[in-house]
Amino acid sequence: MQKSKSSRIIGRLYGAGDVVEVQVDALSGKITSITPTNEESELIILPGLVDLHTHLRQPGQENSETIATGSRAAAAGGYTCVHAMANTIPVSDTASSVEQTARIGDEVGLVEVRPIGAVTKGLNGVKMAELGAMAESNAKVKMFSDDGKCVFDPLIMRRALEYVKAFDGIIAQHSQDPRLTENAQMNEGALSSKLGLQGWPAVAEESIIARDILLAKHTGSRLHICHLSTKGAVEIVRFAKSQGINVTAEATPHHLYLSEEELAEYNPRYKVNPPLRRREDVEAVQQGVIDGTIDIIGTDHAPHALELKYCNFQDSAFGMTGLETALRVIDAVFIKTDRLTWRDVVRIMSEKPAQIVGLSSQGQELKVGNVANICVYNPNAESEIVPEEQYTKSTNSPFKHKTLPGEVVATFYRGRQTHGG
Ligand SMILES: [Zn+2]
Ligand SMILES: [Zn+2]
Repeated sequence: MQKSKSSRIIGRLYGAGDVVEVQVDALSGKITSITPTNEESELIILPGLVDLHTHLRQPGQENSETIATGSRAAAAGGYTCVHAMANTIPVSDTASSVEQTARIGDEVGLVEVRPIGAVTKGLNGVKMAELGAMAESNAKVKMFSDDGKCVFDPLIMRRALEYVKAFDGIIAQHSQDPRLTENAQMNEGALSSKLGLQGWPAVAEESIIARDILLAKHTGSRLHICHLSTKGAVEIVRFAKSQGINVTAEATPHHLYLSEEELAEYNPRYKVNPPLRRREDVEAVQQGVIDGTIDIIGTDHAPHALELKYCNFQDSAFGMTGLETALRVIDAVFIKTDRLTWRDVVRIMSEKPAQIVGLSSQGQELKVGNVANICVYNPNAESEIVPEEQYTKSTNSPFKHKTLPGEVVATFYRGRQTHGG
């Protein structure tokens, strides 16, 4: 926390136009002026990023991450708001549990931590959780998900979709047919056969996405598809949108950058759910982001302590960290290849995620009088990723030893600097 009440930031708004000076006031938490300047700057000024898919591991797995360490990692990645998935121990499935998460997030004060409520009690897939109570709680939950597990029972899924309509809620589905993925370790195909690992077929993801889209159409409710990863999944969502069905979709940085080839040496660092797919899937998911079929980037930041991740491949936990590298990966995949502009990146990493969950307090628009939630980024920097030096408590970054462009040089949350010098 800085002591002075006012900060000035020099750079280009949304990465375009002339260099400006932005004044931020820590007491009011607002942008107080934006004025042209003759100073030179290579920095770009973006609204604070919003993640709809973060695993913070508290309560229950504080040796992997806590709300405090995850918030610090989020700030280091340029985020000012994260949504905490419900698969903690115990599961976040009551009004008091979601209020507790929001309250600890407020006490830490580095980002806005908004809880996601479970769809079913204890993620058991059988009995619906108290969705209404969580929505009406002080945490004002909008998004519900059993992420980590799929809501497999179509009747429960239908009832949940119908139920959240009353308060404009949304169901975020982890699309994975559990029967088709029993003991599955990696993408099913030639490589899984060669490596002798149990395959995870694309159809296990796509069949659930197709079913849920039809349920969303039938109920007229809002459906959000987490971390889609296959070419077929992109095609199904594209079709649904052409039919006017109310569905939004998310892709992760790792599915946009890495393919199953990373698994050739059985390194559990690359084990994730859904699995890394073929290069042609990666390219189809990229195309889905470019043409707007995929609405947002969600990190699926999934920290795991060493003993959970670095054991033999079969026993290793699924998941990768992502908060501190997400913006840089998106820069590498889309900006450095001239396929998206910074304006587009703001849309998929800040504006649209905020819109999906009805956030009004995040100040996605950089203008005088708005909340000063700001990410300052240097697109000309470049460095190798060293997980041991990151703020997250866990070291399971899939970008270890890889060089990524960019650097988040500062983050401001409600006018206070939460990252950078
Ligand atoms: Zn998931
Ligand atoms: Zn997840």
